[in-house]
Amino acid sequence: MATQRIYYDDAYVREFTAKVLSCEAVPPNLQAGRTQTAWAVVLDRTALYPASGGQPHDFGKLGDAGVLEVQDEGDEVIHIVDRELDEGAAVAGCVDWPRRFDHMQQHTGQHLLSAVFQERAGLPTVSFHLGEEICTIDLRGPEPSDELLEGIERAANHIIFENRDLHVHYATPEQLAERGVRKRIEREGMLRVIEIVGADYQPCGGTHVRSTGQIGLVLVRRRSKVRGDWRVEFVSGRRAERLARADFRQLRDAAQALQCAPDEVHAAAERVVAERDAHFAALRGSLQQLAEAGAALTLHSAVAAGDGLCVVERVLEGVHPDFPGLFAAALAKRERVVALVAASDTGQILFAQHPAEGRDMAVLLKRVLGEVDGKGGGTKDFARGKLADASAVGRAIELARTWLA
Ligand SMILES: [Zn+2]
Repeated sequence: MATQRIYYDDAYVREFTAKVLSCEAVPPNLQAGRTQTAWAVVLDRTALYPASGGQPHDFGKLGDAGVLEVQDEGDEVIHIVDRELDEGAAVAGCVDWPRRFDHMQQHTGQHLLSAVFQERAGLPTVSFHLGEEICTIDLRGPEPSDELLEGIERAANHIIFENRDLHVHYATPEQLAERGVRKRIEREGMLRVIEIVGADYQPCGGTHVRSTGQIGLVLVRRRSKVRGDWRVEFVSGRRAERLARADFRQLRDAAQALQCAPDEVHAAAERVVAERDAHFAALRGSLQQLAEAGAALTLHSAVAAGDGLCVVERVLEGVHPDFPGLFAAALAKRERVVALVAASDTGQILFAQHPAEGRDMAVLLKRVLGEVDGKGGGTKDFARGKLADASAVGRAIELARTWLA
């Protein structure tokens, strides 16, 4: 027997009584997050909305039983509840109203936005999703620009401020076609149609507010490309209020951190990043000079072996992470030099040679990393690695020196 859907005619019914037509135990379903046995209940009538058409299901109560899920099964609405109900008995039901009203605000906001996108930009909505935080519509056509999105938001809010009525109609597919309703219709027979006076006329089985004023406000957020369509994020009603408040908090905190006024955050952030980049460039230059000077000093007292090759070993400590690499490179600018440099606090190891030397630093590093745990790589003249245990740098350098000889 078909369940009478009270919300079709009045989406504002929060409490109702109904007769329990059937109640069957259903096993736990981990995918649906149910670890306990639940019961599937069919009533003769219900005000609880089942998940369908992009709108999530309601929560609520049937007697003392909590409603975990509401499913749309053909003509029937199935309520998944957490305790058994007596078949044939009457039961008092209620709807988790804050959740439902939120869904009504988001869903009606979607009707309005989709209508305005179609009307003003010729962009049809191909799908809709009402998420826990954010709602999305997927539009087909060219990329909507920032200016377009702002214009759509303004036009939709204008219709909200006009507080236009919404009406529920029943019509045949032929009657809809006569009115130029473009949406593809899959069902036969009479269709439920939602009209926003002067703005929209769409077949829909969902729940909606009575007049556009109750949408409160729509805020259009980001857009992104999803499988060839344009996904536009938006929020309506209470969500818009919460998001605007959260945005303000973010802006206020960012302004505080940047020590500027909220309307100067963008300029201040750009300035801070530019300063950071300039400081980094200056630091890099100083490190380079320090590496060159350190290399000159080191090579001044270095002693070459009998064959003229000069292997310089150096374990550094407490230096900037960029320094060991610059230092090794500076050493290896001198002919007949091979540099074996490490940092004992970070575990970095660097092997560098003058390009005229015929050895292979990458191969040498690989061989060392075969003995001492770590990662790294490089070229014939310059290789860098990082040891898993920083205290093993002495051993790594020693191995490299042994294999160089
Ligand atoms: Zn709808």
